[in-house]
Amino acid sequence: MNLRHKFSLLIFGLLLGFSTLAWFFSLQLLTQVNEKWAELFAGRQVMFDKHRTLLPLTREIALARQMAADPALLDMAMHEDDPAVRARAIKVLETYRLNFRDQSYFAAFAGSGHYYFNDAANQFSGKQLRYKLSPTNPNDKWFYSTLNGGKDYQVNVDPDVHLGVTKVWINVLIKQGDQVLGVIGTGIDITDFLRETVDIHQPGVHNLFVDRDMAIQLYREAELIDYASITKDVKLRSRVDALLENPDDIENLRKTMRSLEQSGDAVSTLWVTFRGERYLLGVSWVPEIGWFDLTLMDTHTLFSSQNLLLVPLLFGVALVLALLLVGWLVHRWILAPVANLRASMAEVQHGSYQVDLPAIGKGEIGELSRKFTDMIGVVRDTRNELEDKVRQRTEELLRLTEVDQLTGLFNRRGMQERFDQELARQKRQGGALGLLLLDLDHFKQINDHYGHEAGDIALCATSQVILDSIRGYDHASRWGGEEFLVLLTECDEGALLGVAERMRAGIEKLEIPCGEGMFSCTISIGAYYAPAPEEQDSLLRKVDKALYRAKEEGRNCIRYIAQ
Ligand code: GH3
Ligand code: MG
Ligand code: MG
Repeated sequence: MNLRHKFSLLIFGLLLGFSTLAWFFSLQLLTQVNEKWAELFAGRQVMFDKHRTLLPLTREIALARQMAADPALLDMAMHEDDPAVRARAIKVLETYRLNFRDQSYFAAFAGSGHYYFNDAANQFSGKQLRYKLSPTNPNDKWFYSTLNGGKDYQVNVDPDVHLGVTKVWINVLIKQGDQVLGVIGTGIDITDFLRETVDIHQPGVHNLFVDRDMAIQLYREAELIDYASITKDVKLRSRVDALLENPDDIENLRKTMRSLEQSGDAVSTLWVTFRGERYLLGVSWVPEIGWFDLTLMDTHTLFSSQNLLLVPLLFGVALVLALLLVGWLVHRWILAPVANLRASMAEVQHGSYQVDLPAIGKGEIGELSRKFTDMIGVVRDTRNELEDKVRQRTEELLRLTEVDQLTGLFNRRGMQERFDQELARQKRQGGALGLLLLDLDHFKQINDHYGHEAGDIALCATSQVILDSIRGYDHASRWGGEEFLVLLTECDEGALLGVAERMRAGIEKLEIPCGEGMFSCTISIGAYYAPAPEEQDSLLRKVDKALYRAKEEGRNCIRYIAQ
């Protein structure tokens, strides 16, 4: 596995690990925060619901209690038969009627069982006595239950079959000392009341009121309301059981309700299952009406986790971006330079020293790249230097193999090379060639007489004369022991013979030192002129023939053969 794969794997692992941890802890935190918020919210909500419902009721209750204590009504409760008393009391009732929210009132008297009523339309003006209550009539049971209930006032949701209305009734006892004389009060139309109180259009929130026995008193689903609870046996009431399916939840609620009633705490919350979903239930005791306010809240609707999940999601995205940035930087700072370094090394391995390694940054990797480039530069320079030296040495060696050690002229091998080149050039471009073959006369005798070293000096002096006689582009060689071959390019016969004569005369004039004295020598020259290309053997044969003729005809002379 290379470095790139290791880093990728590391980054992927970190990403996965951190994301999982972040997700897990975020969810935990969110759930906790959500539940805490929900409980706080439930507390606020239930108090809000309670006061919203209580506000209109409290006013009506206060007004009804004030009405119940009015002396005119107490008087009527005791002297109902007296028309004057009755007229005065009804006048008071009518005054109160206009102040009640529904502009209606009722008054029922224990002694006569008479039930008085008038409404907003004042349709019963002058005939407020509507009917007579009967202890045997189930519809009138509310009256007798209230009389015997012992509570100064009660709130009761009840359809009045005589009047054909369903109202939230506020029933207040008319009392003279401990003696209960009747029930008086007002009613609020249930439809309006529900709409203003529990039928709130707040998604995820259900508000209801139950009595001490959990009978539903107010709820937006009116069919679940337990009407006229006070007249019924507890077992027959429509209770909160209709909403909460789990017996444990109901038991918990019961305990919470008891505890709230006894402690006087404002609010308490518990988790319940409502219609198959987990709901938070806020409970508050409302002593003013003897009911409990229950507020059911669907925390999923109220506290959508979607927005809150944005936090871990954003964190995740930031993490991914951060890791991608780290990955990119690792690639840029480490992986890419290392890959460049490796590629450069491979190039060097294959003999290319033209390394162009970008040194990124001032860090270790940049420094490594710079040092590597420097090192390759040194290696390249050293190699070039070595190659130069080898080339020089090779050229030197080549020259040595082509040059005569004694005279410095081309040797036979060196001359052969030039000969080949000139013959090829002549064939290619045309032009004439001149050949001179020179041989020192009686050289054996010189050697014998003056010594071999003196002979060598003579050979060197002869060579110098030959060299001085030719042009830069002509070639001169020591062809054998005391024999020299000269090749003249681009010359005519006259020039050839002129050069030959210059050589002969120059050698003749030489004074070669030997010990105390001097000696001189002569040379015989064969000349051949080839204006057209010809084989080398033929050329040499002909020039040799000319030299032979020079020797034959007295030496120290030039003999010429034309093509
Ligand atoms: P000819 O006029 O007929 O050419 O007579 P010659 O004596 O020059 O000819 P020969 O071929 O008989 O002798 C050539 C001599 O050149 C023999 C040899 O000792 C001498 N010689 C050849 N190479 C060298 C050399 O490198 N140094 C010296 N000192 N002598 C050499
Ligand atoms: Mg010879
Ligand atoms: Mg000779």
